[in-house]
Amino acid sequence: MRVVIVGAGQAGAWVVQRLRANDPDCVITLVGEEPWAPYERPPLSKASFVTDDSAPRFILSVEQAAKLNVSLLLGTTVVQIDRARKCAVTRGHGELAYDKLVLATGGSARRLQVPGHDLPGVCYLRTWEDATQLRGRLNRARTLLVVGGGWIGLEVAASARMLGCNVVLVESSERLCARTVPPWVSGYLARQHELRGVTVKLSCEVSKIELSTEGGLVAHTSDGALDADLIAVGVGLQPNIGLAAACGLEVANGILVDAFGGTSDPDIYACGDVANQPLATSGERIRIESYANAINHAVTVADHLSGRPQDGKDVPWFWSDQFDFQLQVLGYPSGDGEWVTRGDEGQGKFCLFQIQGGVLQSVISVNMARELKLAKRWMKAGVCPPAHVLRDLTVRLDKV
Ligand SMILES: Cc1cc2nc3c(=O)[nH]c(=O)nc-3n(C[C@H](O)[C@H](O)[C@H](O)COP(=O)(O)OP(=O)(O)OC[C@H]3O[C@@H](n4cnc5c(N)ncnc54)[C@H](O)[C@@H]3O)c2cc1C
Repeated sequence: MRVVIVGAGQAGAWVVQRLRANDPDCVITLVGEEPWAPYERPPLSKASFVTDDSAPRFILSVEQAAKLNVSLLLGTTVVQIDRARKCAVTRGHGELAYDKLVLATGGSARRLQVPGHDLPGVCYLRTWEDATQLRGRLNRARTLLVVGGGWIGLEVAASARMLGCNVVLVESSERLCARTVPPWVSGYLARQHELRGVTVKLSCEVSKIELSTEGGLVAHTSDGALDADLIAVGVGLQPNIGLAAACGLEVANGILVDAFGGTSDPDIYACGDVANQPLATSGERIRIESYANAINHAVTVADHLSGRPQDGKDVPWFWSDQFDFQLQVLGYPSGDGEWVTRGDEGQGKFCLFQIQGGVLQSVISVNMARELKLAKRWMKAGVCPPAHVLRDLTVRLDKV
């Protein structure tokens, strides 16, 4: 079987590794438009990146790919998929014939839709090059304006603040990370940033960016003009669906896939940030942008390709590192259910358990990794300790 994987990122690299483990004879080609072998993106916004300027953290190095007998075509863009002839057309490496194709094309940083969004000094963050450029500029900047109060914006704000920059963060909605966490956690995040000197402006929209007379930038916002040496934009991700749409696959906020990553063409799969998948619990469609999803989804696809479909039910999980805290989210926090708190904000350690109909729906932890690990086990098993036990810090949860 000849498998071509488009996109040499987190998901693409994991498809390759799993596929090879499943099938020593499969002919595998991994095509990536970036010049680098697949590397991890999460470190790019964390504080460690600011101080550590070594090479990317590779998921699958060139040497490992060679060892696995995988053709790794880097700096190569797939420009078209010819479904009738079953080949991927590349810029630079001709046509690649496939029996099965996997689209792991991820996404691109969404551009701010205002005049001046592309001025020098307005930075976006998705790739190693973006991160290297941002770091170089951060080291020279005294004032940073972060546009967007999602996870990447908050991590960049924290990293810059730790470098000594004056940081202002503006968010157009009335709370931070509104899509992923409940209001109390948004408030917690805002308090942590403000405590450490970040100015957080909510319900504040940027309408225009201009060069200032002092050689910096000025952002015009609904809350007045803000001067900055540098602007970092984190306003979400645009899934890279161009190839899929052009060849007639079903797309809608990502490439539509089934529970095994299959698209509307039986010979084409999609996984990772670009895929719009049905939730195991409700069937509701969702595009998940996380490290763990990219890996789990890639494994599901590779197993299905190898004729060993697995029950791909894994509990969704992501984390974010900011200042001295690590926040983790398990499952999908929704508006419903009872929230039970263990620990408290003042101690810098707490866990919020969301219980709905006796079932653990989601968990949000701050610096309580052990509890989160246990909760993952409970969620997989469909069990949940009583609320009074979860609340009681004198009870060891691993003994429950
Ligand atoms: C700065 C940053 C910090 C993050 N931090 C966290 C975190 O703390 N926790 C967490 O859970 N997640 C985090 N994430 C998210 C996580 O990194 C992504 O969910 C994950 O990388 C998705 O993997 P992917 O393979 O689907 O997409 P990507 O990693 O985007 O890979 C897609 C690849 O496909 C290539 N490509 C696209 N089109 C083509 C084409 N036509 N031809 C060839 N190649 C193509 C792209 O160039 C890219 O290299 C972070 C992401 C970023 C950017």
